Amino acid sequence: MSDKSSVIYDNHGRPINYLRLSVTDRCNMRCKYCMPAAGVNFLPREELLSYEELERVIRILVRLGISKVRITGGEPFVRKNLIHFLTRISRINGLEKIALTTNGTLLAPHLPKLEEIGITSINLSLDSLDQERFESITRRKQFDDVMETFYLLNESSIPFKINTVVMKEENIDDIIPLSELTRKYDLSVRFIEEMPFNGEGGNGSVLTWTYDEILSHLKDYYPNLETISTGPHSTSTNYKVPGYRGKLGIIAAFSRTFCGTCNRIRIDSQGTLKTCLYDSGVLNIKDVIRGGASNEEISDLFRKTFKQRAKDGFEAERRRKEKVNESMSVIGG
Ligand code: SAM
Ligand code: SF4
Repeated sequence: MSDKSSVIYDNHGRPINYLRLSVTDRCNMRCKYCMPAAGVNFLPREELLSYEELERVIRILVRLGISKVRITGGEPFVRKNLIHFLTRISRINGLEKIALTTNGTLLAPHLPKLEEIGITSINLSLDSLDQERFESITRRKQFDDVMETFYLLNESSIPFKINTVVMKEENIDDIIPLSELTRKYDLSVRFIEEMPFNGEGGNGSVLTWTYDEILSHLKDYYPNLETISTGPHSTSTNYKVPGYRGKLGIIAAFSRTFCGTCNRIRIDSQGTLKTCLYDSGVLNIKDVIRGGASNEEISDLFRKTFKQRAKDGFEAERRRKEKVNESMSVIGG
């Protein structure tokens, strides 16, 4: 029997069918936009939801209409036995897509198994094609490992995209070289506006490299840049250089222009439900589960919470008691 029922809608009429699940806050890199050089206070192991608890939550959410899950972190491959967990959730009826977001440093040996499991897509974070700049941004020397993953993914059957966070002082010179990858490779390279989630209060409310700046930079170099259509819940606006195989995208993550069609919820590494990236958490699932709630009680809490969703990221931010200052490694992006 299928675990899946029909999709659930929030209080603004948006379907909720996509879960982003952070399986750890730990990471082997220290990207400047994500966490301080010294890292963050990583959670004690018992504060993470166990794989059994995570699987139970996914099953409940699939019955409520979630059909896609993205596994993220921290770096998901830093958590032990990730492959076993992915194998288990790949057997959940009604869970149609399992995607991963990764920094690519630890993925290579697992690729054949990921193909076997049927992972639907992978987002690889890559902020520079220049080794020095890569090391300056990530504060780690793992450029070669990530590039090996990039080449292996190109050979693999799993579709993948590149995510690049655009930072004024760091990687503007990479926008064109990264875009040029789409000449040879049939992949999407997406440029993301930097958000204030670096664990240190971020860049406040000012962002210099917005969607508009990124687009105009691309258009200066590619005057014939074509706009192409996007899916109904896409966060990126998509483009193509005529004659190139791949696509380019810009994600206005800070300007928040896509909230009207947002179909996603998040469960962060502390087991907190977020119905918007910019909220501070709307339900502590870990406490609910460990308090002994039944599946029906947990479902009811999810339903209730989905009906109180903020209209957009600005409203979610206004509802917070404290200013945004957490690290993206806790939330999962
Ligand atoms: N470690 C994995 C990785 O780097 O892909 C998964 C977790 S990471 C938090 C998920 C995504 O969030 C990455 O694509 C990363 O570039 C993005 N990200 C992290 N901090 C960000 C920030 N302050 N603004 C925009 N994107 C950010
Ligand atoms: Fe780690 Fe990903 Fe954050 Fe970089 S963006 S520090 S790779 S969690």
